[in-house]
Amino acid sequence: MRITLLFMLICSALSAQVPILQSLPTSQNVLYLDFDGAVVNNPNWSATTINAAPSGFTSAQITECFNIIANHYTIFDLNVTTSLAVYNAALATKKQRIVFTPTSEWYGGVGGVAFISSWGWQAYEPGWVFTANLTSGDMKTMANAAVHEAGHQLHLSHHAQYNSSNQPQGSYHFGKGTGETSWCPMMGVGYSSNVVQWVAGPVGGPCGYRISGGFNMPNWQDDFAEMTLERLGGDGFTGHSKAISFKADDIGNTTATAKAINIVNNAISDSGLIIHNYGSLTSFKYATLPAITYDDDYFRITTTAAQNMTINCRPWSLSKSTSDNQYATLDVRLIIRNAAGTIIAIDSNINKLNATISLLNQPAGTYFIQVSASGNPNYTDFCYSTNPIGNIPANTRYGSVGRYYLTGTFASATSLPVANFTQPSSTCVGNTLTMNNQSQQATTYTWNFGAGATPSTSTAFNPTVTYTTAGSKTITLTATNTNGSNTTTRTVNITSALNATIQAPASVVSGTSTVITANATGGTTPYTYNWYTVNPNQTTQSITIAPTTATGYNVLVTSANGCTSDAYAYVNVGAPPPPPPSCPQPTISATTTCNGTTLNITPNTAYQSFLVQHSVNNGSINSQTITGTSASFNFQANASVRFIVTATCTNGAKSTASEITSVIPAITQAAPDFSLASSNGRITTTFVNNGSKFYAIRYRANGTTAWTENTTNGLTITVGAVRGTTYEVQSQSRCQTGQGSWSTSKTITAQ
Ligand SMILES: [Zn+2]
Repeated sequence: MRITLLFMLICSALSAQVPILQSLPTSQNVLYLDFDGAVVNNPNWSATTINAAPSGFTSAQITECFNIIANHYTIFDLNVTTSLAVYNAALATKKQRIVFTPTSEWYGGVGGVAFISSWGWQAYEPGWVFTANLTSGDMKTMANAAVHEAGHQLHLSHHAQYNSSNQPQGSYHFGKGTGETSWCPMMGVGYSSNVVQWVAGPVGGPCGYRISGGFNMPNWQDDFAEMTLERLGGDGFTGHSKAISFKADDIGNTTATAKAINIVNNAISDSGLIIHNYGSLTSFKYATLPAITYDDDYFRITTTAAQNMTINCRPWSLSKSTSDNQYATLDVRLIIRNAAGTIIAIDSNINKLNATISLLNQPAGTYFIQVSASGNPNYTDFCYSTNPIGNIPANTRYGSVGRYYLTGTFASATSLPVANFTQPSSTCVGNTLTMNNQSQQATTYTWNFGAGATPSTSTAFNPTVTYTTAGSKTITLTATNTNGSNTTTRTVNITSALNATIQAPASVVSGTSTVITANATGGTTPYTYNWYTVNPNQTTQSITIAPTTATGYNVLVTSANGCTSDAYAYVNVGAPPPPPPSCPQPTISATTTCNGTTLNITPNTAYQSFLVQHSVNNGSINSQTITGTSASFNFQANASVRFIVTATCTNGAKSTASEITSVIPAITQAAPDFSLASSNGRITTTFVNNGSKFYAIRYRANGTTAWTENTTNGLTITVGAVRGTTYEVQSQSRCQTGQGSWSTSKTITAQ
């Protein structure tokens, strides 16, 4: 099966002497990096001869490319070399070759290609890195492509990327994260990642298992098992032979087997390999593959006097700089243990690949330095941490392998000062903060208290300081003696000032129970309260008082950060208050006459006004304010009217309401007497006043039947008439709530 590595781009063209390089000359296994062009006659690649042009890389570029490749294979018994003679001398079953060439037209626009499982199989050599399809001059990319293609030859397939729903996103992982710890599986596309590692992880397709040939196979590839163990077939997988081995472990894995290193000129320097391994296992099936054993390297040092020590460990990197740890594969975890094996310091910072531990004033004795792989949560991904085999934990340490460089420096602890102090972690603006100096072997002290401090600096042993502004303040102490100085910092949180007040009435009635409350702002909560002038002392925020003489009250409020504020309140005692003014209830009545309804109010005392409210047949309430003692209304007969009257007295008090309900009767009057007169073609009716609200007549000419009506609110009505014609006239009284009957007729002849 041919497997390609994607990628395109331009080419370079230079020719140079190829430097002869070997990563492990003693090894029988050889990976030959062929930079100077090749003539390949291999029908498995092409029916015609391939004349592959030289890579064109400079000697420096080849060396850089070789170093990156050699690091990825440094944990294996494998000699990565640029020597054709070494390659030719190796057994055919223990070698392969990668050709770096811009000549790719015969194959296509990919970054590289190799036959899977072609290690030691000359019929399927070489593997290819097509330099013109990769970023010109980028040796990291060239090297990654070569390690990847050789990985195919060593039985590996691609590692895929999955989304958060564990759905595969194509067949390659393209890397994740940024900066120094950006990560990618080697069998993905790691060109833009710094840490490119061998991994155990999914290979595309469903996350978990896939069915193949009737077998339920884990969709998984353990790179180290594939490369260093024989894979047994028959469970859906095809068997393959073992390709290469891990190197033997170089440094003991326990305190008992620690490698002793001597401190020379107050320094140590050593190196080792982190190689995880499968122990004595020689073959595997995925169903029973055990978890890999993580490597720990132990070093032992012995000091004869108290020491200040700094231990550094960095992984191999192309730059050799811990500012970027360029292209490292190992993320170092550094641990210092005492003679009993107890951890006294650890550095497994996940944001950098190297590790540093500085310890002050360590007593003379034996110490163990433990170097291992740091578990970094960025070194796994969706589906990578859900191993379907079930017996292997999330492998954030798995790919962290390779060479590390251990260094250390030591200085006599007794000769150097150690700056140290304590102080309260928080206080308020304006409060005094006292330093507690615990420095050792120092003769002078320099304090800097940061922004808003008074004083801002001091050289006292235990100075005091106050702050005029709130916020997080940094306090720095430098302790100095004739041999040097040492600086340490602490942070203190300054809050706004605590300010307490008492909420209390200025005066109370003698003996009346009253609640008074302490309120506070500033400092940090919770607050505590002490009413220390009350007997017995009260410690609640609010207290109940009942003074019979004028009394002062004090409360001391203390904030959680230790600030205090004392508040005071003076409560006077006065006579009982006068009784509230009263306003007697008025008496009300309603009368209805022909002329309407009158509400009459009989007040019981001096009044200012009355609020008169009424509602008809339980309808909405109408309100009016009157200053007299009666009010007039016109209601229809039979209406049920509810009257509510409230008096406002001259002392401002309001009475309770008086209420009555009146049913309005239909008031009628007997027909009024009247007289008739006529002149000028008119007839005038004059009524005798009988107290009616209105007066009406009806009239008709003799011999006709239809009446004509006319009404007045006065006492006369004049109507037009036909001279010589005799008219019949009747009268009637009309009231607000009804009308009476018609009178007997009188007649008149119009004049
Ligand atoms: Zn590939």
